[in-house]
Amino acid sequence: MNTFKKEKQTIKKLEEERAKLVKPLNDEISLLLNKIKTECVHPPKLIYEVPYKPHGSCDWDGEASDPPYRVCRVCGVREEGWGCGYKILATKSDVAEITDAEAMKIQRGYLELCD
Ligand SMILES: [Zn+2]
Repeated sequence: MNTFKKEKQTIKKLEEERAKLVKPLNDEISLLLNKIKTECVHPPKLIYEVPYKPHGSCDWDGEASDPPYRVCRVCGVREEGWGCGYKILATKSDVAEITDAEAMKIQRGYLELCD
């Protein structure tokens, strides 16, 4: 018994057509995202750091400790590091500390314009 055989075949064809239409758009978006991440100068005043979370912190993975990490508000890049361990988001300026939730919001919202 082939219940909804015709409908299912049509859906498969439409999904294939949709994939062909979406691919060039996805490729262009990837190129632009790559340009932003490779050409961003990561302005020091727009770099934020989430501090080290020791074992037993009150968060979703409180069983593990988490290293500190930084995020760039312009391009959304994230880098884990300790002091001089940062390579991409290294800066001689003081870096403002933010929470994990704020960092995730920056990473999701980096397409918002900021200067
Ligand atoms: Zn950046």
